[in-house]
Amino acid sequence: MQPGLKLSLTTALLLLLAAAPLQADRFKDVQVEETKLADNLYMLSGAGGNMATLIAADKLLLVDAQYAEMADKIKAKLKQLSGQRSLTTLINTHVHGDHVGGNSALAADVDIIAHSKVLSRLSQDTEFPRSGLPKTTFNEQLTLHLNNQTVRLDAMPAGHTDGDIVVWFEQANVVHFGDLLFEGRFPFIDTGRGGSVKGYIDNTRSLIGMLNDQTKVIPGHGQLTDKAGVQRSLDMMLATLAIVQGYKAAGMTEQQAVGQGLGEQWQSWHWNFITEERWIKTLYHADIN
Ligand SMILES: [Zn+2]
Repeated sequence: MQPGLKLSLTTALLLLLAAAPLQADRFKDVQVEETKLADNLYMLSGAGGNMATLIAADKLLLVDAQYAEMADKIKAKLKQLSGQRSLTTLINTHVHGDHVGGNSALAADVDIIAHSKVLSRLSQDTEFPRSGLPKTTFNEQLTLHLNNQTVRLDAMPAGHTDGDIVVWFEQANVVHFGDLLFEGRFPFIDTGRGGSVKGYIDNTRSLIGMLNDQTKVIPGHGQLTDKAGVQRSLDMMLATLAIVQGYKAAGMTEQQAVGQGLGEQWQSWHWNFITEERWIKTLYHADIN
């Protein structure tokens, strides 16, 4: 072994050891916070995708599960809000780890409902705990009747992934969009898991048509919003797509398009996960026609 290589291995090991506690501490100071939407319905935020919980007589339903590391805090919050009820149903809006990571820790013994694509993708992930796999799946629509509360699950055409659903709380006029909405920021479109820019935009447009001015919209990420907020997101996507299509029509390479940027108007949508550069690259490769 060359001395230089040994040194770099030692350095790498030290870096790894230093990084480990940082990773463990990532959730330490995160609190689960609720936003009341109706007497029996709350949006919950913490680390990862926003959740929703519905309390209906003896039933307790949760939409999305964040990360396993958040499970104890989520359980404590559910107990505080629901008066000691136990979770009876968990719904997953889609396959991503920041929405399904807590499945096993929260709902190993209760029904877990998701799009069938979520089950097939998670089943192929050998790291994913088997007890956290969805038990009830569907491909189009599923309606739950929980003590006079109607919860409708609509499967959407491929957009963020190929297994996205939106969850409607009909009496409260509230909808959980999953990651078909990143409120106020560039969206992540997971083309590696069946998502597409065209599908994402088409879904956003068709969902807007199902909202009224009073509907409360829970985004996968960001703040609680409404029809106008979803429209702003659609407007941003259409405007930035047009910019990037213009660059392509002018013969620019991807890197030249990134260099040109999207202009001042869209800077506030940039965030650490989907930077302006990443969003431009997503749009550059969009299959739109
Ligand atoms: Zn996602």
